[in-house]
Amino acid sequence: MYTKFFRVHGEFCASHPWEVIVATLTLTACMLTVEQQSFISPPKAKIHGNCVECLQDVEYNAADVIVMTLIRCLAVLYGYYQFCNLHKLGSKYILGIAGLFTVFSSFIFSTTLLNLLQVEVVELKDALFFFLLLIDLSKAAKLAEYALSASNHEEVKINIARGMSVLGPTITLDTIVETLVIGVGTLSGVERLNVLSCFACLSVIVNYIVFMTFYPACLSLTLEVSRISESNFSLCKALQEDEQKSSNPVLQRVKIIMSVGLTLVHAHSRWPQNEDDVITPFVVQEEPNASNESSLYSLIMKWVSLSTDHLVILILLSALVVKFVFFENKLSGTDSKSDLLKILRHDQEVQTQQSSLEDEAKLIELEESGDNDVMELVRTKVISQYNLEKALGDCERAVRIRRKLLKANFEGLPYKNYDYHKVMGVCCENNVGYIPVPVGVAGPLKLDGKTYYVPLATTEGCLVASTNRGCRAVNRCGIKSKLIADGMTRGPVVRFSTLEKATETLTWIESNFDSIKVKFDGTSRFARLTKIHPRLFGRLLFIRFVAKTGDAMGMNMLSKATEAALQFLKDKFEDMEILSLSGNFCTDKKSAAINWLEGRGKSVICEAIIPEEIVRTVLKTTVERLVDVNLSKNLIGSAAAGSVGGFNAHAANIVTAIFIATGQDAAQNVVSSNCMTLMESCGDDGKDLYITCTMPSIEIGTVGGGTILSPQGACLDMLGVKGSNVERPGENANQLAKIVCATVLAGEVSLMAALTEGHLVKSHLKHNRSNVKL
Ligand code: NAP
Repeated sequence: MYTKFFRVHGEFCASHPWEVIVATLTLTACMLTVEQQSFISPPKAKIHGNCVECLQDVEYNAADVIVMTLIRCLAVLYGYYQFCNLHKLGSKYILGIAGLFTVFSSFIFSTTLLNLLQVEVVELKDALFFFLLLIDLSKAAKLAEYALSASNHEEVKINIARGMSVLGPTITLDTIVETLVIGVGTLSGVERLNVLSCFACLSVIVNYIVFMTFYPACLSLTLEVSRISESNFSLCKALQEDEQKSSNPVLQRVKIIMSVGLTLVHAHSRWPQNEDDVITPFVVQEEPNASNESSLYSLIMKWVSLSTDHLVILILLSALVVKFVFFENKLSGTDSKSDLLKILRHDQEVQTQQSSLEDEAKLIELEESGDNDVMELVRTKVISQYNLEKALGDCERAVRIRRKLLKANFEGLPYKNYDYHKVMGVCCENNVGYIPVPVGVAGPLKLDGKTYYVPLATTEGCLVASTNRGCRAVNRCGIKSKLIADGMTRGPVVRFSTLEKATETLTWIESNFDSIKVKFDGTSRFARLTKIHPRLFGRLLFIRFVAKTGDAMGMNMLSKATEAALQFLKDKFEDMEILSLSGNFCTDKKSAAINWLEGRGKSVICEAIIPEEIVRTVLKTTVERLVDVNLSKNLIGSAAAGSVGGFNAHAANIVTAIFIATGQDAAQNVVSSNCMTLMESCGDDGKDLYITCTMPSIEIGTVGGGTILSPQGACLDMLGVKGSNVERPGENANQLAKIVCATVLAGEVSLMAALTEGHLVKSHLKHNRSNVKL
C-alpha cells in the first residue's frame, strides 16, 4: 500500500519535473522573502533572550573547541567518504546528480535557516557541518542509478517511480527515526545542544523534502535532456532486488517501534506544563543591526580569522584533497552497477558492431576502472563471466579478470600479448590464457617434386628428430601422392512412425539426389553434395551426406547444409521426426569402420622408394627386416588386436603434431590417423624398399576453425597452403592432406627402422626424458 503511494508520488515528480522544480524554487523564494518578524513571536524572543546571549556572546571555551573540531572533522571525513563512494560509482551522471542534490539541499537549508532564524554565521557554520554529517548521498545515487538504467524517457519515469517505491518507505522511516533521535538533544536543556539538535533535525527534514520532490524531478529532467542510448531493464530489476534485500524487515520494524517510543518521549517532554518550561529550539538573536558597519566588519573577521579548529579542518581538507587527487583518483576505477550500465551498453554496441568515438570514450572509461570493481559485477551476476570480453571490449583484461575470479593458480600459464579477438566466437570461450606448444620442423620433405619444411607441434621428444630422419631417408627419390577421394560427411538420424513410411522416404531420397543437392548446396559457396548414403535400421533412417567443402575441413559447413536438406525432407515427409543432426553415422571424432571403409575428408595415398643404401646408412637397418616387422606388427598385430584403421606404427603422432601446428580440430586426429602402412622390397634385385601409406580419412582444412589464428596461420604459410585457394578452391586443403600423409610416411619409415634395430627405448631415454629432477 505505502509502496504504491511512493510509486505514484515518484511517477508524479518524474512526469512533471518542471512543475515540481518551479514549485520548490517558488516556495524557497517565498521563504527567503518572508518578513522574519512575522515568524518571531514576542514571547519567544523574550523567553530566549538569555539563549541568544549565550550563543552570541559567550566565547568558545576549550571543551567547545575540541568538541566542535571533532564534529567538523567527522563531518569532513564523512563528506569525503560519501564523495569517494560516489566517485567509485564511476558515472559522471550519478556524481553530477548527487552533487546537484547536495548543493541544492545545502542551499535551501542554509538560506532557510538564515531567513527564518536569523542565525548568526557561527551557528550556520556548525549547522552546515551537521548537515554534512547527516546527508546520505547513497540513496540519491541509488535513485539516479534507477533512472539511468532506462532507455527512453518513458522508462525513466517508470524507473524513478520504481526507485521511489523501493527507497521511499526506507527513507521516510529513516527520516522519522533520525529526527526523533536527534530531537532528543533538544530536550537536554543545554542551550548549545538544543540549537545544534534543531539544526540537525531541520537538515534531515530539508534533505528529505528535497529528496522527495526536487530531486526526482531534476533527475527526470536531466535525463530527458541528455541522450540515453540503451536500456537495461534487467539492471533496474537487479537494483530493486538488491535494495529490497538490503531493507531488512526486522530492522524496519525496530525503526517503527523506536519511532513510536520516541514520539511518546517527545510528546511527554513537550507537553506544556507551564509557559516558562516550553523549550523552543529555534534560538534567535535580537534585532540584528544590519546597517552597523563595525558588526559587519566583525562578522567578516569571524569568517576569515583562523582559530585552532579552523586550522585543523583546513589541514584535514588539504590532506584529503591531496590523497584523492594524487593517489585514489589514479588507483581506483569505476565501480559496480553504474559501471555496468556502461559495460552493458557497450556490450550491446559490440554486438551490433557499431564503432564510434562515443564508444571509444566509453571503452577508455571502462579500461580505467579497476579490475576489482568488474569482478564485483561478475560476482553479483550483473555481467556474466563468459561475456567479459564483449562487456569490457578488452580481451586481455577480460582474461586477467577471469583468472582472478577463478582464484586458481594460473602462475606459469601465459595470457599476455595474445590475439584473443581472433579466438572469440571461433576457437575458445572462457579464456584464461594460452598454451605455448613447442614447434619443431621436419624436412626438407620432398613431395611431388616440391620441398616442404613441416611444422610439428609436440611435447614428445624424439618425434621431430625421428620424422626428420624419415624425411632424409625418402629425400633422394621423393614421395609421390594421390588424392583419391574428397568428401566430408554428416550423418543425421531421423525416425518414422512405421517401417513403411521409412522405406518410402529412403526410396525417395535414392531417386531424388538432384533436388536434395540443390537445397544442400544452396547453403554455401563451397559445400557441394557428392553422395547420399542412407541406411535403415528398423524405423530409424541414417542419412550420410557426403560433400566437398573447398578449403574448409567442413564440419560446420556440412551441419548447416544437412539441416537445410533435412528441412526439405521434413516438408515432404511430415511424419519424419528429426532426432539428431548427428546420428554418429558421420562419424566424427570417434573410431568407426565407416570412415575407414568409405573415407571421410580427404583420402590420400603416398608412396616412396628408398634405395637399399639409404635404408642401411640413414635408417641403420635392412629392407628385409623392415618388411618383416611391418607385416608382423602393422598388419598381423593390428588385425589380432581387432584394429579399425590402425595398421600403422604411429600415424597419429604426426597427424596430431601437424594438426596442432596448423590449427586443425585436434580431436579429429581420431579419424584422421586411420592409416595402413605397407612395405615390400622392390627394384631390379629386390633390395630397395617400396613403402605406401594409405590414409582414407584426413579431416583437414586451411580456412575456418583454428587456422585463422596467427601462429597457426604462420605454420600453414610455411607450407604454402594458408587460407583459401582463390584459383582452385579446395586445393590448399588437398595439398595439406597430402603433406600430412607424406610426413606420416617419413615418420613410419623412421620408427619402423628404430623398432627393427631395438633403438626405440634407447633414443626415447636419450631424447624424451626430462633432466629436471621431479
Ligand atoms: P567454418 O569456418 O565454419 O566454415 C568455413 C567458412 O569459410 C564458410 O563461411 C565458407 O564460406 C568460408 N570460405 C571462404 N573461402 C573458402 C574456401 N576456399 N573453402 C571453403 N570455405 C571457404 O569452417 P568449417 O570447416 O565448416 O568448420 C570448422 C570448425 O568446425 C572448426 O572450428 C571445428 O572445430 C568445428 N567443428 C564443428 C563440428 C560441428 O558439428 N559443427 C564438428 C567438429 C568440428 P560459405 O559460408 O560460403 O560456406
